[in-house]
Amino acid sequence: MSPKVRRLVKLLSRLPGVGEKTAHRYVLWLLTADDALARDLGGELATLRDELGPCERCGNIAELIEGRAICDVCSDTKRDPRLLCVVGRVHDLLAIERTGSMRGRYFVLGRLLSPLEGTGPEDLPVGRLVERIKADSVTEVIVATPPSVDGEATALLLKRELGPLGVVMTRIASGVPHGGDLEFADPITMGRALAGRRVL
Ligand SMILES: [Zn+2]
Repeated sequence: MSPKVRRLVKLLSRLPGVGEKTAHRYVLWLLTADDALARDLGGELATLRDELGPCERCGNIAELIEGRAICDVCSDTKRDPRLLCVVGRVHDLLAIERTGSMRGRYFVLGRLLSPLEGTGPEDLPVGRLVERIKADSVTEVIVATPPSVDGEATALLLKRELGPLGVVMTRIASGVPHGGDLEFADPITMGRALAGRRVL
């Protein structure tokens, strides 16, 4: 195997869900498929991190414009700023957006509380979340962390930390499989979970 192929296989196998065998197939495919594919892919990847970044308000993926990133959801003036949905990861935000039934905005924590993985309350951006709630005069916080051990622990932490602010706190209903990822829930199930949220 040429060193170039080896390097590319090694890089591709660092992607989630891509083993060495799959990485190898990808490299061979890129070498034999039409010429434009490898070039287009390379071009897009080369500028990906310069053109996109986390939204400075919510953490969603946003286009960087003059060094600033504000996502589509945050710049959508038709959204109700008083309704804030807290999610663990951007994937979860996208899963909820696919339902088309979220009329508020979001806050991405970036990670969940996980005693097993050594993620404690101090590792979560709770301070920034509190600031956001105050700045936008939020009246309802929908906690949409996944129905897993870490997701539930995070929901309880948020209830404790945000409780004193006097906002209504709701939790998305079950229907999303326990331990499951929100990103794999179909939009109808996810939409029902959102509509059937209960007070936390
Ligand atoms: Zn945003």
